[in-house]
Amino acid sequence: MALKLQSHIERVLWDQHQISRRVSELASQISADFGGAANSDSPPPPPPPVLVGVATGAFLFLADLVRNIDLPISVDFVRADSYGSGTISAGAPKLSLDLKVDVKGKHVILVEDIVDTGRTLSCLIAHLESKGASSVSVCAFLDKPTRRKVHFQPLGQGKFYKGFECPDYFVVGYGMDFAELYRNLPYVGVLKPECYK
Ligand code: 5GP
Ligand code: MG
Ligand code: MG
Repeated sequence: MALKLQSHIERVLWDQHQISRRVSELASQISADFGGAANSDSPPPPPPPVLVGVATGAFLFLADLVRNIDLPISVDFVRADSYGSGTISAGAPKLSLDLKVDVKGKHVILVEDIVDTGRTLSCLIAHLESKGASSVSVCAFLDKPTRRKVHFQPLGQGKFYKGFECPDYFVVGYGMDFAELYRNLPYVGVLKPECYK
C-alpha cells in the first residue's frame, strides 16, 4: 500500500489556515483595485480583469483566489513548460496551451504558483502584450526573489501581487509538484530527501 502523503513531507512552510488567510487578503486587494470606491468623486474603476492561471501549478491558488473576488471576472488558463520532472529549470519556457478568452484591450492578471527565475512570467507577459492586453498584473502565491535570473515587469498599469516570500527550497503542495506528484497536498512543504529519488 502507498504511504500516506504526509509521511513524504519533512517540513511544512505554510499550513492551510495561513494559506487561506493570505489568499483572501490578496483577493480583497484585487477586488479593491478593480472594484473602485462607491464614492462618486473618485474616478471610475477599471473594467473587471481576466484572471489567467498558469497550468498546472496555479490551479488550487486560482480556484481559491477567484472564489474570494466579488467582481464579474473571466477565468482562463495558459500552460508554459520548462521544468520537466526535475527541480532545476530546463531553460526558456514554451507556450503549450493558449488562451480561449480574447484579452485585447482587457486587464489581465496572470496567476502563478511560484516565481523562480522569472523566465515563465517574462515570456507570458510578452505573449499577453502581443495579444493586445491593456495591462498585465502578476499574482503569484510564492516568490523566490533570490533565484531571479530575468527581471520581469507588469505591463502598463499592472501590479505585482504576491502571497509569501519563499526561501530557496524546492517546495511542493497547494498545486506545486515534484514529478507531477504532491499537487493535492493542501499545504506547502519540503519533501524528505529520499522522496526526490
Ligand atoms: P521560473 O520560470 O520563474 O523559473 O519558474 C516558474 C515555474 O517553475 C513555476 O511556475 C513552477 O511551476 C516551477 N517552480 C519553480 N520553483 C519551484 C519550486 O520550488 N517547487 C515547484 N514544485 N515548482 C517550482
Ligand atoms: Mg507555475
Ligand atoms: Mg512543476
